[in-house]
Amino acid sequence: MDTTLIFDPILIGKYDKAGPRYTSYPTAVQFHEDFGEAEYREQALASNASGRPLSLYLHIPFCDTVCFYCACNKIVTKNRRHTAPYLDHLYREIALQGALFDHSRPVTQLHWGGGTPTFISADEMRELMRVTGEYFQLLPDDRGEYSIEVDPRETDGGTIAQLRELGFNRLSLGVQDFDPQVQQAVNRIQSREMTLKVMDAARREGFHSISVDLMYGLPWQSVASFGRTVDEIIAQNPDRISVFNYAHLPDLFKTQRQIDSGALPSPAVKLEILQTVIDRLTAAGYVYIGMDHFAKPEDELARAQQAGTLYRNFQGYSTHADCDLIGLGATSIGMVGDSYSQNLKGLEEYYARIDEGRLAVFRGVRLEADDRLRRAIITALICHFALEFAAIERQYGIIFKDYFAVELAELAEMERDGLLALSTTGIRVLPPGRLLIRNICMTFDRYLREQKQQRFSRVI
Ligand code: SF4
Repeated sequence: MDTTLIFDPILIGKYDKAGPRYTSYPTAVQFHEDFGEAEYREQALASNASGRPLSLYLHIPFCDTVCFYCACNKIVTKNRRHTAPYLDHLYREIALQGALFDHSRPVTQLHWGGGTPTFISADEMRELMRVTGEYFQLLPDDRGEYSIEVDPRETDGGTIAQLRELGFNRLSLGVQDFDPQVQQAVNRIQSREMTLKVMDAARREGFHSISVDLMYGLPWQSVASFGRTVDEIIAQNPDRISVFNYAHLPDLFKTQRQIDSGALPSPAVKLEILQTVIDRLTAAGYVYIGMDHFAKPEDELARAQQAGTLYRNFQGYSTHADCDLIGLGATSIGMVGDSYSQNLKGLEEYYARIDEGRLAVFRGVRLEADDRLRRAIITALICHFALEFAAIERQYGIIFKDYFAVELAELAEMERDGLLALSTTGIRVLPPGRLLIRNICMTFDRYLREQKQQRFSRVI
């Protein structure tokens, strides 16, 4: 597969608009409370007939300090005693969920996310993994893809050794930017030495994949300063690098109000920063996977993309397309059978539900045939930059050009702009269209289309 990327500022200016990141389709906006515990239970029990492997996501919501750019659901506290009641409820939720799924279904993927998973103590980590192994079939000998988000400010060599011993074999490090002025402005003081020490320890302990998260668009960033951070990270040779775009939405996210908007780089500078990032990462041999993610060509994500088996879920890109994903912990999202579901977000309500001996699911969505069809299309485009009509027609029993006549007509403009090539057999996203992949996917999003139509009707 050709992985070339062309940065075209005019096209980016024309098409870049807010839109879903398609870690699911339908997206979380479509989740509703008519889908609750009973509906989830039904989906979970029915999924056992498939014998599909399982993927577990465990959410640890605590953070020691707040990063001002953060839009995650987290609880900021210095009080480490908060973890005990949370974990006690999480263990009970694991038991409730474990009872729904056949124990013979192996956990081929496991992820601890947050918040800050490394906020909990070494003993708590060990106990959490032990309880998980009691109710689910964890795989020995590195046969699973077991990953954790690591905050270098909360981690030392001992923690990394312990994580490896617990069975983790992939880790991702939050870095964002090495520049001290930027770190000060976003309240995330994390020295270069802290980060590099954790990366060295992860290598020593034999982690299979190390991923680094960076962010552009933060206060006081310039092309030169962020370029230095990117160069320093490249020199450490991580397997994957994600470069996220900071979206300043202080009306929506309270902590972002502490960021001085006057210090933010202008849209033109942000574009220049993005171009620099792409140039440096591709020159260093990284492949653009899609949607902010770059990987070494030998990394399993890049290989899965080449093999046509890449998948996208709530943790980003994944090599495991065939799993049911169980979300555990407050706010976590699952994808089981033909449904998506989400747990209660507030700790008090999450605790109350578990204390009643009930699952914490409070909303979700059951996929209709049209949702499954559109999800397959969006997944193919976002993971492989290509879509073959015949494969979709065979699987879903439709005539593509009839079912999607409106969408294909809309894609004609993108074709004229050089974003993609349309033929009678399929769609191929071209190098200038790859950075705009979500805009291409948005064409197939029925819910966005309906929203647009409703807005239009209201205006009239
Ligand atoms: S970015 Fe991560 S560490 Fe910082 S506040 Fe958000 S969840 Fe916590």
